[in-house]
Amino acid sequence: MFHKKSLKLAGLYLTIIMFISLFFSAAIYQLSTSELDHGLRHPDAGPAGVAPEYGLSRSTREALREERNAQYEESTDHVLNRLIVTNLMILVAAGFLSYYLAERTLRPIEEANEALERFTSDASHELRTPIAAMQSEIEVALMDPKLSSKDAKNILKSNLEELAKLTALSVGLLKLAHRENGQMLQESVSVKSVINSSVSRVEPLAKKKKIDFNTSAIPQTAIRGDEVALTEAVFVILDNAVKYSPDKKAVNIDVSHKKKRVTISVTDQGPGIKPDELTHIFERFYRADSARSKSTVEGYGIGLALAKHIVESHDGTIAVSSKPGKGSTFTLRLPA
Ligand code: ADP
Repeated sequence: MFHKKSLKLAGLYLTIIMFISLFFSAAIYQLSTSELDHGLRHPDAGPAGVAPEYGLSRSTREALREERNAQYEESTDHVLNRLIVTNLMILVAAGFLSYYLAERTLRPIEEANEALERFTSDASHELRTPIAAMQSEIEVALMDPKLSSKDAKNILKSNLEELAKLTALSVGLLKLAHRENGQMLQESVSVKSVINSSVSRVEPLAKKKKIDFNTSAIPQTAIRGDEVALTEAVFVILDNAVKYSPDKKAVNIDVSHKKKRVTISVTDQGPGIKPDELTHIFERFYRADSARSKSTVEGYGIGLALAKHIVESHDGTIAVSSKPGKGSTFTLRLPA
């Protein structure tokens, strides 16, 4: 399909190039023949207004004219042949160039299309799972003539849990769509306030799991960007560190400012991430299986995709290093 579209666009490019080339070739041919006509068949009068043939015998004049006509024909043929060869060369070169340009033009559009298709199908799959669970529970309950009020309450409770999952998922999707399509503010943001706001957002869960934060001295540095978005990105990393860590395992937050770059590192002592999963965790909807975290910790694999998008929109980078069974370190680097 992509190949077919590229060929179509290349055909269009080629038509335009050949149209221009043929147009100029026709103009060159026209100009050359009229110059040759002027120079060979109708030469200017010589010095003192005397035609070059003046004083020659009639037969010599005829012979001269015939020779000039032959020269004219030969020269115009020569020009025509040259133009044909040049156009054929342009056709071949432009053919390759057009295909190359068409591929280059269409590749990002194709990739964006594929990403959108993948996103739509992943999102609908994620939405369908809790809906299907609710539907089957309700259907089974309705078919049971001896359904007690205790069973009904249990089913409602389970439905409520599925609804909470749906709400969390739709909030995550909305955030992602909002961040990906919306404009980021460009204001001076204090790193300290970003760290403090994200820590206070994750604190309730950390308290529940008795997880402490060891935070290094935060330099008084400012970043240019969107405070809400940057807080969201740091929150995602801290939330994961707490979410995936076992109880009572401290999380370290290290902030430094060197060479016009602010580095924020978050290290946990959680299950870690396997090397083959590391490359995927920033993809939307990807959830690693490490230490069975997928089945025990709730989530939809949206957080890190969101954090990566926010950090990259601020000309920053996000990286991870991890040792399975020992913990992970997520590092955000942002221009100060
Ligand atoms: P979610 O946490 O909602 O599943 P994320 O996009 O935030 O989605 O993370 C993607 C996956 O990366 C998670 O499912 C988890 O498997 C893995 N992951 C992220 N952070 C950590 C961490 N600190 N420790 C272990 N695994 C992590």
